Amino acid sequence: MSDINGRIAERLRALRHARGWSLDAAARETGVSKAMLGQIERGESSPTVATLWKIAAGFHTSFSGLLEDAPADGGVLLRSSRGADWPSDEGGIQVRALFPFDPVLGIEFLVVELAPGACHQSVPHDRGVTEHVIPLNGSLEVCVDGQWQNVASGEGLRFAADRPHAYRNGGSAPLLFHNLIHYRG
Ligand code: MN
Repeated sequence: MSDINGRIAERLRALRHARGWSLDAAARETGVSKAMLGQIERGESSPTVATLWKIAAGFHTSFSGLLEDAPADGGVLLRSSRGADWPSDEGGIQVRALFPFDPVLGIEFLVVELAPGACHQSVPHDRGVTEHVIPLNGSLEVCVDGQWQNVASGEGLRFAADRPHAYRNGGSAPLLFHNLIHYRG
């Protein structure tokens, strides 16, 4: 079992038990099949980014909350968005938690990499969730409420993410962007 699959397995089991949910209940809440959830909990499956987002939404938790515990409060935190293994990039998307979810601040700071031509459809997050996306090395196309817009390097886009949204890399090179997600307490 890879490190990351092991961590996800442990976090998912802990979240499910904290809520007192059976696998059936978790499948109902997340839209991810019971069989798949069981495999993830046993570390037998490498969940895709899309599956992890469905699980996060169903459990009303952050993305990084599925990968690791919240860091200790306060103090200096130096983190890298490189190295380590991260959730599977099936579908051409990789998501890394630069700063994992902080329950006091209500934010997580993600680094997302989209392969050339990749389009990622995001599930609606909880009510009141706001995203701020900042492309780092090219233009990012973002769809909110069915409207595509171009966000150039040097620009940032903020939007209410409690509705369907999507990201697309129309360029010919891998595109990196920062995604600061604020969860309302
Ligand atoms: Mn999103």
